Amino acid sequence: MDVVRSLEAFRRLRRSWPDQGPEVCLVPTMGALHAGHLSLVEAARKRSDRVVASIFVNPTQFAPGEDFERYPRPLDRDLKELERLGVGAVLVPEACEMYPAGHRTQVLVEGLGRKLCGLSRPTHFQGVATVVLKLFHLVRPRAAFFGQKDAQQSILIRRIVRDLDLDVEVVVCPTVREQDGLAVSSRNRYLSPEERKAAPVLFRSLQWARREVARGERRAPVLLAGVQRCLGAEARVRVDYVALVDPVDLEPVDRLEGKSLLALAAFIGTTRLIDNTWLIP
Ligand code: AMP
Repeated sequence: MDVVRSLEAFRRLRRSWPDQGPEVCLVPTMGALHAGHLSLVEAARKRSDRVVASIFVNPTQFAPGEDFERYPRPLDRDLKELERLGVGAVLVPEACEMYPAGHRTQVLVEGLGRKLCGLSRPTHFQGVATVVLKLFHLVRPRAAFFGQKDAQQSILIRRIVRDLDLDVEVVVCPTVREQDGLAVSSRNRYLSPEERKAAPVLFRSLQWARREVARGERRAPVLLAGVQRCLGAEARVRVDYVALVDPVDLEPVDRLEGKSLLALAAFIGTTRLIDNTWLIP
């Protein structure tokens, strides 16, 4: 497995891969790999013998006061896992090379980046969009793999691909969960034992909404109020948002008439967690 830190060295490696060779599949990550990330790598490996993973804790998608500094960086362990799964190359760029002095260009996806998580993290998606476009240019993948856990992120990336005519297939893989339903996340490790016990309420509240839809409920205000009620049963949970939105433009829906995204974010203690599910009438 090639572990490449410099962008020029990665470009050289990329140029050595023949066009007629295996499809290049990219799995972008911030490292601290867990079962969710590994499911993306496995999906990419099923498709191709030429999988590139990137590990980059992207500073521009963190706001001041967020967890950039304390974000876990177990690089050696991550590389072992990627090698075990048959990844061919890992790009581990340095922030000073990704954003050299004078870097001014940002990718702004109007509207989409300011909704849902963008309300409380107004600069986050600009950071994500910019770094993902840079990775797409560096790696030139045929397909890139993302997780449904970060639904807004994959919707935004699909939009970039469409709007900027990128020749990249965006593959979105299902959310991997712990046994009690909590979505696996690098941030779960910040939870105290008591907070960890409370955290599955996020998943349970989504499940409640799915059951209501199966029983015929279509009114968004009723579904949203019910989810808020479920979350409210846990004293440790402070809701950031709960929203039922259209899956393309993230506009709120009043009534469930087509496949819609039920998404939420909540603080448990000081840790902000997200989760989502599709609701299909
Ligand atoms: P991150 O390292 O948090 O930027 O995540 C890298 C990729 O892994 C993103 O596409 C995430 O959506 C995906 N991912 C994170 N957690 C999960 C999960 N529990 N299930 C599936 N994909 C995930």
